[in-house]
Amino acid sequence: MKEALTGTQLQAVLNQALAYTDKGKVAAYIPELAKEDPGQLGVSVCFPDGTMLSAGNVDVRFTLQSISKIFSLIIALCQNGQKHVFERVGKEPTGDPFNSIIKLETIKSHKPLNPMINAGAIAVAGMIQGENIDDRLNRVLDMLRKMTGNPAICVNEAVYCSEKSTADRNRALAWFLKDSGILTTDVEETLDLYFRYCSIEVSVKDIAHMGMVLAADGIDVQTGERFFPEEVARICKTFMVTCGMYNASGEFAIDVGIPAKSGVAGGIMACVPHRMGIGVFGPSLDEKGNSVAGIKLLALLSKEWKLGIF
Ligand code: GLN
Repeated sequence: MKEALTGTQLQAVLNQALAYTDKGKVAAYIPELAKEDPGQLGVSVCFPDGTMLSAGNVDVRFTLQSISKIFSLIIALCQNGQKHVFERVGKEPTGDPFNSIIKLETIKSHKPLNPMINAGAIAVAGMIQGENIDDRLNRVLDMLRKMTGNPAICVNEAVYCSEKSTADRNRALAWFLKDSGILTTDVEETLDLYFRYCSIEVSVKDIAHMGMVLAADGIDVQTGERFFPEEVARICKTFMVTCGMYNASGEFAIDVGIPAKSGVAGGIMACVPHRMGIGVFGPSLDEKGNSVAGIKLLALLSKEWKLGIF
């Protein structure tokens, strides 16, 4: 077994991956995200004993975007149970882009294929219970604040407004879901909640903590506090493997082999079961919406330190 990872080694891996930041483009379809400097790259690794290693742009704050789909799914499963959730959203990878609409029509049940694509996550947002929209937002926010020990985590209003005013594709998905009876809640309100989940602002340290909780099957190893059941953690990690990197999940499973979830702001949250949580931020994306340098960094780390689970 290779010796434990050091900060110097993490910095060296980051330096190698930095060369890939100019291979992609920042997401521009949400205007606020287009302002990011594509040259940034940061990584944090959180271990079960609570220690952390970081390198690069570690204090930059960015929005969760699709990484939030894991946490809204956790709350939906905890509140409603598996039967209710999976009657409305499937468990299969799509092979299509994350915002694709095509299978909502061509599949007989009209169910979104999985909760990691936009249609599935919008359906999941419709399942989150609470007294009002703030309460429904706080179910996710409160859990993230506790998991990370960072009470300052909140929604980036500029990104939220930017997405809300340009989200015609997501509106189309939501209205389609409403028409087929998958979504039974108010469409605009459900979308509003979905945009707010996507706009929750974090750092790589925060998502490394979140990844470590998933790696530890739903608990904070330091305190023993349980945030969600082991079974829910198992379901999420499986979705991360099969659908977490959208229609690049198969390639990522072969090249990196770690459960991971990406977002279009450039974040990737990864977890190596029982060993570590990893947070990466690199806003320059490939054509499938994943951080180019982030994937490279994870591939290098996985190969050198034998992190792959297969
Ligand atoms: N908020 C983004 C959207 O709905 C999330 C997508 C993503 O990160 N892939 O388009």
